[in-house]
Order: sequence, then structure tokens, then C-alpha cells
Amino acid sequence: DDDFDVLDAVTEDPNAITYLPALPVIAIVGRPNVGKSALVNRILGRREAVVEDTPGVTRDRVSYKGEWNDRRFTLVDTGGWEPDAKGIDASVAAQAEVAIDLSDVVLFVVDARVGATSTDEQVVRMLRKSGKPVFLLANKVDDARQEPEAAALWSLGLGEPYPVSALHGRGVADLLDAVLKKLPLISAVAKEEVGGPRRVAILGRPNVGKSSLLNKSAGEERVVVNELAGTTRDPVDEQVELGGKIWRFVDTAGIRRRVHLSQGADFYASLRTSTALEKAEVAIVVIDVSEKISEQDVRIIDLVLESGRALVLAFNKWDLLDDDRRRYLEREIEQDLAHVSWAPRVNISARTGRHLEKLVPALELALESWDTRIATGKFNAFLAELTAAHPHPVRGGKQPRILFGTQVSSRPPTFVLFTTGFLDPGYRRYIQRRLREIYGFAGTPIFVNMRVRE
Ligand code: GDP
Ligand code: GDP
Repeated sequence: DDDFDVLDAVTEDPNAITYLPALPVIAIVGRPNVGKSALVNRILGRREAVVEDTPGVTRDRVSYKGEWNDRRFTLVDTGGWEPDAKGIDASVAAQAEVAIDLSDVVLFVVDARVGATSTDEQVVRMLRKSGKPVFLLANKVDDARQEPEAAALWSLGLGEPYPVSALHGRGVADLLDAVLKKLPLISAVAKEEVGGPRRVAILGRPNVGKSSLLNKSAGEERVVVNELAGTTRDPVDEQVELGGKIWRFVDTAGIRRRVHLSQGADFYASLRTSTALEKAEVAIVVIDVSEKISEQDVRIIDLVLESGRALVLAFNKWDLLDDDRRRYLEREIEQDLAHVSWAPRVNISARTGRHLEKLVPALELALESWDTRIATGKFNAFLAELTAAHPHPVRGGKQPRILFGTQVSSRPPTFVLFTTGFLDPGYRRYIQRRLREIYGFAGTPIFVNMRVRE
């Protein structure tokens, strides 16, 4: 009955749900303790609000919307990626690699008081090869006396270091001014192409079978792809022919690159999920049916809902399902995935190829729903019928009325209702339920907002 709690949570602010072109991405990388989190907080203007980190718990937010001089961007915080003591080099390197893949500009933070370490040098080589704009930050330069320490970082070969104090804010404004000059208006890594192939993200926690699915779908027919002139990195996206049509699978480099880090894996998965969603129109969330549906599966699905992208659920490893497990699975789906009962489901095996062909109609259905526009006249006829059949309950002698409604956008379908009072959450859910009953909207989140006119 409560299908829309997640959606309700994100519908409160009608301005927050417009489908925007992908913002440019700034990633912050560096060794532990150099001040990455402090810098994130500084840039976002959060006053000393260092995120409380519980050891062993993955931070699920890795990217934030930031703004400087009226320019908006996505800030990717790799500070939540805590490398273990022995794997520091590998972890920091992998973190940098991911950041390079997914960002338009990289801020590389070094602790000026410690100086450059061999880990830093390793990261520098990678950054230089990427061809991406890199800013070298000499952090913890809290006053002018420490500037000579910053200057010593010239030796890293990344050009002039920016002496900053993330903690006190010193130098950060100048830095951001310089960064904005290098930042594209729309992300080059997450560029939206109008009229091109539809963009699909394959998401899911590690080991559910994402790369198997990609390989099996792509098969021999993989048409290789992406350009991004001037960089030496792997193609980010791949175009794949499925069901006689070309699809663009976004960020496949991120799926193919195996991150063999026990500690970085979850963080990497969250980072991939948010950036891939920026680029995608529809997400296939892959779920491993041989294991219990986990909180992490649900969290990834909820990220898709929040992003307003279309959704297809792929239940993978169907070949491993026995009768016992199947009964549990059905119960888990009822319990944990009730809020996305509208998403098309395909039961596949990436290993055997079972039912992979069913992905195409599922994707098409979800995208068609996502694109749907309902004419204002029709929508108001729908509202009139709905309120006649089931008027809003009277509250304290008053009965809020819906004066008028309109669909303000598609992708995803977003409606605004002009009302004479605040509608009960239950009534709003009823409207959403009726919308789905009448129009389907299989595979797409829908948003219903209100404007109260006194
Ligand atoms: P991260 O691991 O790279 O995210 O580093 P943190 O942001 O958690 O910072 C590590 C430590 O360095 C914390 O104790 C911060 O208070 C301190 N720190 C960060 N930036 C500065 C700075 O600009 N000046 C000084 N003096 N300390 C800083
Ligand atoms: P990813 O981390 O999500 O990309 O997962 P992978 O594609 O690397 O798959 C993880 C493991 O699951 C590998 O050992 C795969 O061979 C296995 N696997 C993937 N799909 C299937 C499937 O449909 N059936 C079975 N039995 N195993 C699968």
C-alpha cells in the first residue's frame, strides 16, 4: 500500500526533481589524512560538519551538488574510501583511477607538512597519463610561513601547487576560481546526446553478474565506441546491438575494471552507481537470486528512484535457483521490493544466456513510460473522475480541493497539482496509484507535487 514512500521523500521540493543535463564532475583524491573531507566540507560550505564516519560502515553518499559563483557541479568525495594499512598504495591508486574515469577535473591533495610520498608519485603518473585537468593542492598551509613547504611540491611535475588550508579556508576561493575556468559547462564524461542511442546503466553490488551480463549481451557484436579525444584512457561507454537496435551502455569501463580491494569495493560500487546514473536514462539493476536480497540491493534501487531514471530489475543467476530458494526469493521481493513493484522484471542467467532477449522489451517499456506525456486536458479529466469517485476526506471542517493539474515534465513524468489545501500523504499515494492503474508507467518513477493556493 505504501509504494511511494521513497518517492514522497524526494517530491517535497518541486525544484529538485527537474531532469537536468549532467553537471560537470570534480573529484578529490589523495592519501588518507591529507584533508580531503575537510576540503569537501569547505567547498560545500558545511561548517566543520565533518561527516561522522562509523568504522566499517560504508558511507553511501559519495557525490554532492556544489556551487561556486553561480556554477553548479558535482563533487565526488573519495574520502570515504578508507584504505587498509597494508594496501594503501594500491587503494589510493585505484581510487585515483576511478576518479580519473568519472570526473572532468581532479583535485589532487597532498599534505604540505608531510611532503610528497612515493604513493603520491605513483598517483601523479596516473593523473598525468589521463590528460585530464589536475590541480595540485598543497593542503594544511594555514599561514604564509608554510608556503615554502607548498612550493617544494613543484617537484611532482604537476605544475604550480595551490597552497590551501581546507580547515581555515585559506586559498580555497582562488583555487575554485581557477578550477571553474577548466570546468566544462556540461560534463564531458556524462554528456547527454539528444537523439543518440538510449543510454543504459548496468548497476548492482559486486559479483551479481554485471560484467557477465555485459559480455554476454555484447557478444561478438560489440561495436566499439567512445572517443573523448586527447585522453589515453579506456572507452567509457560501449555501444551494443540488442534486439536490432543500438544501445549505449554507459560507464562499461567501470564494470570491466575489477577492483580487487576488499575495502574499496563497496565504496567503488556506490561511486559508480551515482556517476553512471548521471549519464543514464534507464538503469538495469542486477540482483543475484542465489543470495538473499540485501540492503545494498535496495539502496542501489533507491538511488535510481531518487535520480528519476527508468528502472528494470534483472534477477540473475536464475540457473542456480532451486525450489526452496525460489520460495524465499518471492517473499523477499514482496517484502523488500514492494515499492518498485511497477518495475519490469526479467529472470535471466548471464551464464547460460537464458532470457537475455527479454531485456530489450523491458528496457523499451521502461523508457516509453519515462518519456510519457499526458495532455493537460486528459490529465484534468482523470483528476475529475478520481476526485468524484473518492473525494479527499474532510479535515477540521475543511476539504482540500484539486483545482487544476498539469504534467510539467517527462523523463520522468512529473505532475503538479494546484490545490486549496495540503493533501494527505495517503491521498497523494492514492493519486499515484490511480495514475499507475490508468496509465501504467511501468518502469518509471513518477512525481506528484502540490502547489497550495489559499
Ligand atoms: P582525509 O582522510 O584526506 O579525508 O583527511 P581529513 O579531512 O579527515 O583530515 C585529516 C586531518 O587533517 C584532520 O585532523 C583535519 O582536521 C586535518 N586537516 C585537514 N585540513 C587541514 C588544514 O588545512 N590545516 C590543518 N592544520 N589541518 C587540517
Ligand atoms: P560483477 O561483479 O557484478 O560484474 O559480477 P561478474 O559478472 O564478475 O560475476 C560474478 C561471478 O558470478 C562470476 O564468477 C560469474 O561467473 C558468476 N555469474 C555471473 N552470472 C551468472 C549466472 O547467470 N549464473 C551463474 N551460475 N553464475 C553467474
